[in-house]
Amino acid sequence: MKSLGSIRRDFAPWSDPNAKPYIQFDKVTKNFGDFTAVNNLSLTIFEREFFALLGASGCGKSTLLRMLAGFEEPTSGRILLDGQDLRGIPPYRRPVNMMFQSYALFPHMTVEKNIAFGLKQEGMPAQDIEKRVAEMLKLVKLEQFAKRKPHQLSGGQRQRVALARSVAKRPKVLLLDEPLGALDKKLREETQFELMDLQQELGLTFVVVTHDQEEAMTMADRIAIMDKGEVMQVATPAEVYEAPTSRFVAHFVGNVNMFEGKVAERSASTTRITGATGAQIVVDNGGDAAAGANIVFAIRPEKIRVTSKKPADAVNALEGEVYDVAYLGDMTVYHVKLDDGQIVRASALNAARVSEDPLTWNDRAWVSFRPDAGVVLTR
Ligand code: ATP
Repeated sequence: MKSLGSIRRDFAPWSDPNAKPYIQFDKVTKNFGDFTAVNNLSLTIFEREFFALLGASGCGKSTLLRMLAGFEEPTSGRILLDGQDLRGIPPYRRPVNMMFQSYALFPHMTVEKNIAFGLKQEGMPAQDIEKRVAEMLKLVKLEQFAKRKPHQLSGGQRQRVALARSVAKRPKVLLLDEPLGALDKKLREETQFELMDLQQELGLTFVVVTHDQEEAMTMADRIAIMDKGEVMQVATPAEVYEAPTSRFVAHFVGNVNMFEGKVAERSASTTRITGATGAQIVVDNGGDAAAGANIVFAIRPEKIRVTSKKPADAVNALEGEVYDVAYLGDMTVYHVKLDDGQIVRASALNAARVSEDPLTWNDRAWVSFRPDAGVVLTR
């Protein structure tokens, strides 16, 4: 497969066999009574990585973060930081800081006092505190707001104060639990980019917990997708989207079409799939699917073309009828009901103002796609 690498082109320690792991979860299990929140989970995070834990509510991602911070201990397994086993080390002695969902700012203190709080507790000399606070205010662009109290700030500004406070002590690792949860959509998007810039500037390792796939995709170098206390896949955003390794991940991130089928023929370069109702699909990469295996062919809507005539050069073309059309401005989404009854979702970018091949409800239509457009999944 062609490279589906990192966004930061020169940063991919996970593909370097000699790179030293920074944070290691080694067969970690966490039970609460007879409930297993994290199940025999192993995971490696590298220094300076922006790492996201993504999953539905209750999948165990916050528990994982809290164990790294030291608020919970694993029932079994080890957590290592820079080679050191963290068991028994209290939170305040770990080079880790956590920014909470609620920010937990002190309401009666000004912005600068909030930022200075942890430094003061640590016994840092007053002039050093002053210098560090000024540095932090500049970093999060809140210099003019130093004397305000939290209630005199917007949600986004409060979020930045919390961030400044959590990096003021210069932790090596910053843990962020749903850091942008309290912000509205527009502000959240802006703040995502700010967080990425800040992480780069400070050269810290960030581990962020989120249930928002777009957020994880935007910010993270790599994403761990979790389900029921287990990691389903760890990969770059592009890999997670373009090369999911299971139905769960394919479904979890973005929209996807799934064709149930069987591998009819398999060679090094081509895999031919017979769909449940007889349709034939030819793909370049059959993954680990052997001939005869029951599989699912997963393909994203934007990889599918919808045309009124069968494209002459199409390797894969299936006929049906336009069932639904939604014009969304930047793109149009089609639902095409194939002759075998399956509904296919396809999306087309509206690159020109006028479509050359306008299609509407009940038109006969062909959906077509390239042999490298989707993935074959065996689990
Ligand atoms: P959310 O996005 O809702 O915060 P999450 O993926 O972060 O979800 P966790 O907070 O890690 O989920 O919780 C995982 C599971 O463990 C949940 O089912 C939760 O109810 C359970 N759990 C967490 N903490 C405790 C606890 N102290 N005692 C008992 N059960 C707990």
